[in-house]
Amino acid sequence: MDYNKLAELLFGHIDKEPEYYETLYPKRNLPEGAKVTRIGPSPTGFVHLGNLYNAIIGERLAHQSGGVFYLRIEDTDAKREVEGAVELLLSAMDYFGIRFDEGATLDGDNGAYGPYYQRQRKEIYQCFAKELVRRGLAYPCFCSEERLFAMREEQMAGKDNFGYYGKWALCRDLSLEEIEEKIKNGEEYVLRFRSFGDIDNTVELFDGIRGMLKLQENYQDFVLLKSDGIPTYHFAHVVDDHLMRTTHVVRGEEWLSTAPIHAQLFDTLGWQRPIYCHTTVLMKMDGETKRKLSKRKDPELGLNYYRQEGYVPEAVWEYLMTLLNSNYEEWRAENPDKEIGEFLFTTEKMGISGALFDMMKFDSVSQETLLRMPVSEIYDKMAAWLKEYDAEFYELFTRDRAFTERIIGVGRDGARPRKDLTNWKQARQFLSFYFDETFVKDDPYPENVSAEDRKEILNRYLATYDHNDDNSGWFEKIRTISAELNYAVKPKDYKKNPELFKGSITDVSNVIRVAVVGRCNSPDLWEICHIIGEDAMRNRVGKEL
Ligand code: GLU
Repeated sequence: MDYNKLAELLFGHIDKEPEYYETLYPKRNLPEGAKVTRIGPSPTGFVHLGNLYNAIIGERLAHQSGGVFYLRIEDTDAKREVEGAVELLLSAMDYFGIRFDEGATLDGDNGAYGPYYQRQRKEIYQCFAKELVRRGLAYPCFCSEERLFAMREEQMAGKDNFGYYGKWALCRDLSLEEIEEKIKNGEEYVLRFRSFGDIDNTVELFDGIRGMLKLQENYQDFVLLKSDGIPTYHFAHVVDDHLMRTTHVVRGEEWLSTAPIHAQLFDTLGWQRPIYCHTTVLMKMDGETKRKLSKRKDPELGLNYYRQEGYVPEAVWEYLMTLLNSNYEEWRAENPDKEIGEFLFTTEKMGISGALFDMMKFDSVSQETLLRMPVSEIYDKMAAWLKEYDAEFYELFTRDRAFTERIIGVGRDGARPRKDLTNWKQARQFLSFYFDETFVKDDPYPENVSAEDRKEILNRYLATYDHNDDNSGWFEKIRTISAELNYAVKPKDYKKNPELFKGSITDVSNVIRVAVVGRCNSPDLWEICHIIGEDAMRNRVGKEL
């Protein structure tokens, strides 16, 4: 077979040679050890936690080493593409503080290694496809869907391996004349790789996270170009990551099984393989069992969720870093005030079995993160969130900055600071009692206090209340009320001899707390009374009498 002729027949319109692109996209001029990484999301309209997880790894590897981190839009599957998806992706990445040095932007390309939208690289892929045809390593396949389906049935019946290989690869040995004839008749075809792999062979593949892997060699004549001349992921990945000079390919472990295909392509084309870093899937506990996070069942898989709930990006980074590097939590404990970027992230410290995403743990990391954040920053960030998601509360929240900063700051100091804030949605709920406009009674009064006693407690509270009392003077009065009404002043005494009392001082405080705050659990009540002011306090208690 004259492969040159076949190459011209299939790719007569391609006039560039591979060298042209090799020169156009030269090796990057970077310091020794600098890593070039990327993310290659498909514009499906759903940006998920896995995208961010991989982006953080790529970003860290590149920026820790003085390298380059870029964005490539993998839009080869037009069927899955959704309008506005790139915009959504860019905005999500921006929100989470992922900064690209180059790559796709809304206005096109930024960088010398583009285009960064795969569909615009059709000619580049075809140039290398033509080269493979010339070398006898790729051929057109005219097999119809029906034919492939029938083949699969036959393979199933005969317990053969599925796929297009060996004796099943019917189009492998078509003659030039047969091919010409079919093309003349307008028959559709894909371009397949002529694999020389052996089903019984293994290949070694180095993975930055998993170490040296032994995988089954690829023996399938997989598709390089689809019938519209657009490449499959396999071919596009290899051509792009070579020409864009990627050193580390960070991607989900779902690509591990086809990695031998990619290794074979890199080797065949005479290109250096990148270091693959196959990340683990994100899992969650569902009852007793661990399962993959699912788009359908778990809202927390979508990145948008965190934004809508008002989790700060720093908390998401913080938590993902604890999942990514086993030594991160220890580092954070030792360096509470350092920027996350100062932590040295390494792929060697990454786990290889599914990372468990635990919402409770994440919430607690979020609380810690907000506790470390200065009050004025919390104010600004929460105000920005409210402006977008809760315009009504935004008005109250921003009415008096000094007041609002004061309520954010309650209970944050001291040896055991309170961790009241988790995310802006929850914080909005939590802080609502400070404003008369949003104050509601969430919790009922303690059950063991009779309606009569409740009134008595509140009456006595108002009667003895002096706004000039300090915290201990104020509390002394509550002790007095408790003792007078036969509630144990020391909760311990009540526990020991419950028959001697109607309850304890905790019940008395909770009656006042529910009247003033609307809840049984709140920061220091004296402080709250001083923040909302005597009038507001008297007003709230008065309504309960
Ligand atoms: N488009 C692929 C995906 O969304 C990218 C995989 C890769 O990073 O190579 O899974």
